[in-house]
Amino acid sequence: MSFNLATILRETATATPGHAACRTADADVTFAELDALSDRYAAGLAAAGLRPGDKVAVQLPNGVEFLTAYFGILKAGMVMVPMNPLLTEREVEHQMTDSGARLMVTPETFGDAGGDVDGEPTVEIAPVDPDDTAVLIYTSGTTGRPKGAELTHFQLYMNCTISGDAFGVREGDVTLMALPMFHVFGLSGVVNVAVRYGSTMSVVPRFETQAVLNAMHDHRVSVFVGVPAMYHAVVNADLGDRDLSALRIGSSGGAAMPEALMRRFEERFGVVILEGYGMTETASTATLNHGPEARRPLSIGTPVWGVEAKVVGPSGASLPPGPENVGELLIKGHNVTKGYHGDPAATATAEAIRDGWLHTGDLAYKDADGYLYIVDRIKDLIIRGGYNVYPREVEEVLHAHPAVAEAAVVGRPDERLGEEVVAAVSPRPGTTVEPDEIIAFCRERLAAYKYPREVRVLPELPKNASGKILKRELRTP
Ligand code: ATP
Ligand code: MG
Repeated sequence: MSFNLATILRETATATPGHAACRTADADVTFAELDALSDRYAAGLAAAGLRPGDKVAVQLPNGVEFLTAYFGILKAGMVMVPMNPLLTEREVEHQMTDSGARLMVTPETFGDAGGDVDGEPTVEIAPVDPDDTAVLIYTSGTTGRPKGAELTHFQLYMNCTISGDAFGVREGDVTLMALPMFHVFGLSGVVNVAVRYGSTMSVVPRFETQAVLNAMHDHRVSVFVGVPAMYHAVVNADLGDRDLSALRIGSSGGAAMPEALMRRFEERFGVVILEGYGMTETASTATLNHGPEARRPLSIGTPVWGVEAKVVGPSGASLPPGPENVGELLIKGHNVTKGYHGDPAATATAEAIRDGWLHTGDLAYKDADGYLYIVDRIKDLIIRGGYNVYPREVEEVLHAHPAVAEAAVVGRPDERLGEEVVAAVSPRPGTTVEPDEIIAFCRERLAAYKYPREVRVLPELPKNASGKILKRELRTP
């Protein structure tokens, strides 16, 4: 059987050629144009001497060039290695060596690499095996050095099909594309979904609140996909006379969505937010709240089609339902990566895949209906005086405080207790946060061993390029 993920573009370009595939502040590109541009790119790569199976690194910002290179590489049967444009030289070097990429596409080399082929290129999409790697993509580096996960044509096809179906994405929708395209959520969870279902992408180069609000107004965005930090930025913004009434659904993932933030956004914009959970290692989505009726706040929902999840205790046995039964979340199914590139040791040990079960490194529990709840990352768990404190539980309380915009809780080494609970918060616009008052607020709502003894007020919390709060930076004062 032969197959190629790039067929999603060809099919949409055939069905709705004149429809906008993406819209930026200065131009529209139709599906037919994107199809032709990426055909030419594929031909250019072959003319440059690259062969099917070769890896091509792409270090481009969100935009038409990224999409052209991406689909061009896929059509040529090559493997794309997306890279964060903000990486330092040393990090780029590591990812080039680690991935074994033969070529690197940057804004400067975009044309040479394949963009400058003249005339009519061959338009035949290279057939590949569904289990061939399409993308070698790095994890966010939230907890350490990013790891390269191999994702296949089939896995990525399944993910966009399943997610788009769950959100009911369709032709006529305009999807906000403000997540980085080099990250699994932006690539697998937004680009592929929009292209597969013929929705227009409203492309913002990177998440910047005013640019996002302008794009939402100008392009009449109907599908908002983001990490919680993006919801936070939009819900706290002054909209001016912008009209965001086209919004019909929100999708959140990548980090825990605080219930207070979810409710505020939903009330303000009259939409439902469907939270999902996924990892780079699961080709994006592993579990979802499947539609507005099924949605449960604080929950990541249930596994997507063809995927299983279980919560296991230290012995490896499945735990019964109930919030008191917290264990590690394990995922199995068509979406689990073949492994970390060039690192069989990491694949088989650390965040390991054993008997097909991916050990996520996340703590979770199930309710009686099989809904899953992420408690925290194992690495973020605080042990204070012998008691487990889950930062997320404390963060939920902090988010319920009217002056708090964002909150993160970490452990600080403490001689007597092992660790002490410390909170970092940023204030909502126009408010001031009094650390003592916040501590008292938490003390009323949390057991004595859980409430933070120190509150640091920061104008903004440190985040990485995927918009996740970097707790490791908060641990080093
Ligand atoms: P690294 O593995 O390099 O440290 P990372 O784990 O942040 O970085 P990603 O693959 O982008 O890299 O993110 C996957 C992780 O994001 C999950 O393991 C989980 O901790 C977190 N996550 C994703 N969705 C949710 C969610 N809905 N709720 C809570 N956490 C989530
Ligand atoms: Mg990870």
